[in-house]
Amino acid sequence: MTERLDSEVVVVGAGYAGLAAALALHATGRDVVVMEARDRVGGRVHTEQRDGVDLDLGGMWVGATHDRFRELLERFALTTYPTPQDGRAGWWDEEAGRLRPYRLVPGKWTAAPAAAAAVARIERLVRRVPSHASWQGSDAERWDAVTVADWLRRRVPNRQARAALDASLVTTFSVETSQVSMHTLFTTAAGEGGLLRMLGAEGGSQQDLVAGGADGAARRMAELLGARLHLSTPAREVRHDRHGVTVVSDDASWTAQHAVVALPPAHVAALDWHPSLPGPRRQLLQRLPMGSVTKVLAVYDRPFWREAGWSGDAVDVHGPVTLGFDVSPPGGPPVLASLTCGRRSLELAELPAEERQQRVLDAFVAWFGAEAATPLTVVDRSWENETWSGGGYSAVPVPGTATMRPGVLAEPLGRVHFAGTETAARSNGYIEGALASGERAAKEITSLLDAP
Ligand SMILES: Cc1cc2nc3c(=O)[nH]c(=O)nc-3n(C[C@H](O)[C@H](O)[C@H](O)COP(=O)(O)OP(=O)(O)OC[C@H]3O[C@@H](n4cnc5c(N)ncnc54)[C@H](O)[C@@H]3O)c2cc1C
Repeated sequence: MTERLDSEVVVVGAGYAGLAAALALHATGRDVVVMEARDRVGGRVHTEQRDGVDLDLGGMWVGATHDRFRELLERFALTTYPTPQDGRAGWWDEEAGRLRPYRLVPGKWTAAPAAAAAVARIERLVRRVPSHASWQGSDAERWDAVTVADWLRRRVPNRQARAALDASLVTTFSVETSQVSMHTLFTTAAGEGGLLRMLGAEGGSQQDLVAGGADGAARRMAELLGARLHLSTPAREVRHDRHGVTVVSDDASWTAQHAVVALPPAHVAALDWHPSLPGPRRQLLQRLPMGSVTKVLAVYDRPFWREAGWSGDAVDVHGPVTLGFDVSPPGGPPVLASLTCGRRSLELAELPAEERQQRVLDAFVAWFGAEAATPLTVVDRSWENETWSGGGYSAVPVPGTATMRPGVLAEPLGRVHFAGTETAARSNGYIEGALASGERAAKEITSLLDAP
């Protein structure tokens, strides 16, 4: 027998989007409940503590323009520290079997003069487009029909430069460049202040890290929600009409005046909708597959890579790790992290955890020497194996989707409102976009509930 519980608003999903919506509603005195499938909050942001070190297995960087996320951290007295960058970045030279120092655009991250020219060209194009994911029109359609891989093949004849740009963009979008359009590249980069800012640390999207881990603010938000938050409570079914919304879980259902569905697109589509989702919206949701990413973090007793002059930033365009970097907290133990995205992440995701970790440690050894073989601790996560995320960092529209009015994802369906980073106009795919989308959904509902 299913228990029925009533509230003014029911929020589905306790990632940063759902939590932002719930807290904004709660702050205006609204009666809100939150249903979360996992036994924790934070969704695609998850910090694990190992041997006293906080390790971010999901989202972690606070970008220079991510003002909402910064304000939220300040609200909970959480601090950030700059992403460690001292030393030389490295490029794995497969033939020579060693890491080569690599930097082309001063202070930034590209591989050869040819790459710098391509970056400058993309920057010029980015400056001409609007910085929102639902950019439409004939130019938008034209650029949405061109994949990043096609463009690189045609415009960047230098092999090394093309490989470097390809690796950095695969790591930015977490899908192969053959699966992401120039439209998505332009609008995402425009929202982050340009291509180099989107790829870079200082002044860019990877500028800072959160002391204590990036899910700290989510945990504080959960504390404020208290008993209104129901963990291990997956939504299965949504019924809505002009009187209200009922969201059904396994043992209980919530009836509310409004709902906020703050889930990744595939999870929105997987709910049992009554009435059914309109066809165009359902088809749009089908064209937003999740990216693929595996992250591995290794804690060491000494920063041996820094001692050898390396910053920890390393790129390998062929091996099991796309990108390495240093995420050591100030005063804490040294930590090397890796991101492997797209096809190579899918390969890692099939392996047992120990083998996956070993492949990454082998890459660290090749790059930085034998000491990398013996970390104090190593943790990993292939996000495509996570039932309630289905991948990461975010859903990336398949090329050609711009013709399908993608802005509809953020539009309410009767009394059901939608949040989630994929619905954000700006910083789409980032924590910042998730927070903005939750605040927007809360405002939509408040203005309706406040209406005379
Ligand atoms: C490895 C990795 C690295 C990343 N790096 C960064 C970074 O450095 N900086 C950055 O800004 N962003 C980064 N991101 C992206 C960022 O984490 C996401 O954009 C953001 O967390 C999305 O938040 P959200 O609330 O929209 O969605 P989610 O976090 O996915 O939240 C959705 C919630 O809904 C729950 N859920 C799913 N289905 C149901 C259901 N049926 N019923 C109830 N609950 C359900 C899920 O468990 C989840 O808690 C990264 C992501 C990954 C995976």
